[in-house]
Amino acid sequence: MKGSGTAARKLRFAAAAICLILTARPTAAQTVVDDRALGDEAQGANWLSYGRTYSEQRFSPLTQIDTRTVAKLRLAWSLELPTDRSLLATPLVVDGVLYFTGTFSVTRAVDAKTGKLLWEYDPKTIEHSGDRLRIFWGSSRGLAYWKGTLVIATNDGRLVGLDAKTGKERWTTQTIDVTKPLYISGYPKAFRGKVLVGNGGTEHGAARGYVSAYDIETGRQAWRFYIVPGNPADGFEDEAQEMAAKTWKGEWWKHGGGGNTWNGFTYDPEFNQILIGTGNGSPWNQKVRSPGGGDNLFLCSIVALDADTGTYKWHYQTVPGETWDYNSSMDIVLADLRIGGKTVKALMHAPKNGFFYVIDRSNGKLVSVGKIAKTTWATDIDRKTGRPIEVKGSRYENGDAIVWPSPFGAHNWHAMSYSPKTGLAYIPKVELAARFNDQKNELIDWRSPKFRFDVAVDTGFGNDIPRDTGVSALIAWDPIRQRKVWEAPQDGFWNPGTMVTAGNLVFQGRANGDFIAYDAKTGRKLWSAFLGSGISAPPITYEVDGRQYVSLLVGWGGAGVGFGGGSANAKYGWAYRAQTRRLFTFALDGKAKMPEFEPPAFPEPIVPADFKIDDALADKGRGLYVGQCLMCHGAGAVSGGAAPDLRASPILLDPSAMKGVVHGGGRVSMGMPQFKELSDDELEALRHFVRRQAAQTVDALKPAKVSKKE
Ligand code: CA
Repeated sequence: MKGSGTAARKLRFAAAAICLILTARPTAAQTVVDDRALGDEAQGANWLSYGRTYSEQRFSPLTQIDTRTVAKLRLAWSLELPTDRSLLATPLVVDGVLYFTGTFSVTRAVDAKTGKLLWEYDPKTIEHSGDRLRIFWGSSRGLAYWKGTLVIATNDGRLVGLDAKTGKERWTTQTIDVTKPLYISGYPKAFRGKVLVGNGGTEHGAARGYVSAYDIETGRQAWRFYIVPGNPADGFEDEAQEMAAKTWKGEWWKHGGGGNTWNGFTYDPEFNQILIGTGNGSPWNQKVRSPGGGDNLFLCSIVALDADTGTYKWHYQTVPGETWDYNSSMDIVLADLRIGGKTVKALMHAPKNGFFYVIDRSNGKLVSVGKIAKTTWATDIDRKTGRPIEVKGSRYENGDAIVWPSPFGAHNWHAMSYSPKTGLAYIPKVELAARFNDQKNELIDWRSPKFRFDVAVDTGFGNDIPRDTGVSALIAWDPIRQRKVWEAPQDGFWNPGTMVTAGNLVFQGRANGDFIAYDAKTGRKLWSAFLGSGISAPPITYEVDGRQYVSLLVGWGGAGVGFGGGSANAKYGWAYRAQTRRLFTFALDGKAKMPEFEPPAFPEPIVPADFKIDDALADKGRGLYVGQCLMCHGAGAVSGGAAPDLRASPILLDPSAMKGVVHGGGRVSMGMPQFKELSDDELEALRHFVRRQAAQTVDALKPAKVSKKE
């Protein structure tokens, strides 16, 4: 039948008008990001905080991309980030706008549907840092959002409130004493009109960790909680400090004590408490930090604080008297678990120490525990006391000790996720050991350094980390039965964070540049895409106009790549400035073209025939290297990609050029700190160390020879 007359035309016009209204409307009603929104597990369009919602599960209820449709997942858009290096952040999405922090906390807002840049804010981190530039890698793990205010933290310790619409600064608060070797790489956490932030430290001098909460509208401090007690002679800040001080010995406050908390903040609305995963000791070696032992509260613990006042409620310590850098700063994930016929208001936590804990968050009592990785420091956790059953010798009390896990941890900050649908936690697990030895240190005379790496125990950072060191796996863990359900193994120890969806998919990026989707029930690999560079960040998912997207920042970097470094990380070829950083976003039937990727690059160590290495000088240089250069240039002077590989740098061949950069600060604007205190003799010692490393590691990246069968 032929359409005729005005009625049909009117109908067509009306349909067109409705279409116009629908397409012109950019997003649904504006979300008020407050406690209600942050606690709403059922909404899937937005990704409102670091762990998506207050539960920190990183579980999305979205189902458009599922085990059947994921095969059609293609690039929707990508954004080039040519000036960025290390990208670790979890982006946020609010009403179709995606926000993320890049290197040195440069913050951007982009249209989540198209990738179009809406605004950019540069907090000028390098200019604010001074000597603190020596102790971090420019990394930022994320940001917070509350009612139109976006909050970022900078490496130099500032908290900055931005207008989310325009990126204009609303307020700035310095959260640390700028004379102390503290920094921030972690994410701020928004809850109840406040924003919480911690800090990093413990490796570069006397550091006393704390967390503080600020009013999110004004940036004014609301409360502060110290993780370790200060000098009793100065009086205690609160009763918790007084209680904690009884678990310390000697003059711990001279070395700060540590506990610095740079990750692992969970707001628990049911008990109106903030759960803090606390850091390790400063220095690592307990014999120096607290001679004679003691539990050293609140190191390596989960501490529950009243969310309104910061008052101590309870704690659970995972590593009493820690001495291996086994912090508990890993994520704390909330869920109601059915255990023994009862519903437990549980928190799940897999700290560095190799165990997986289920804890009753109403009182901090241990419910159950399992072992996710090889642990030689402790055989098990006593179910009654909740304390580890330690292995003699693992505290390097008899000298050399090889201990599993390493200071890198069996699980690090790389996010685990939890699906209430499968009942499984998805953990990036690492198998890696370390050799501890404190016999070389002048323990009696040991003093806290300042802005120099020294943890009062040698863990071999002066040597290369060979290319085949460490393995890792994505594991699916049943928290109720405390057992592994499946695992997806991988080469190498760098093992990024995860996300899980109601479409029964676990997403994870990998060190080799692959972005992978697994079947959440079986671990079967269902989809993957190569993204041109090593991945360090965890993915997110969101929805705009009825379409589900998956986003991921790709920018090789982070502590394992920086001061880890070594051939174990250099082997991928993600050398300094060799590959462009990007933000990638995928959707079903995405139509964007994959960018052209730069090839892997391997800096070639320079071994000049006419350079005579003086071994005594090189030995002296080794100590200087670990103290000053290791943090960015990598173990044994083999760069993991966070900074230039010094073995291949022509600058070190010319003493005056080297002096201009290291002593003179010629490259501060690029992030290379100035070391005014280094003498010409010390610079010469460093030169000899680097030349010796170059000669010794010239073939380090070649695969080990496979012996042929006769
Ligand atoms: Ca640490």
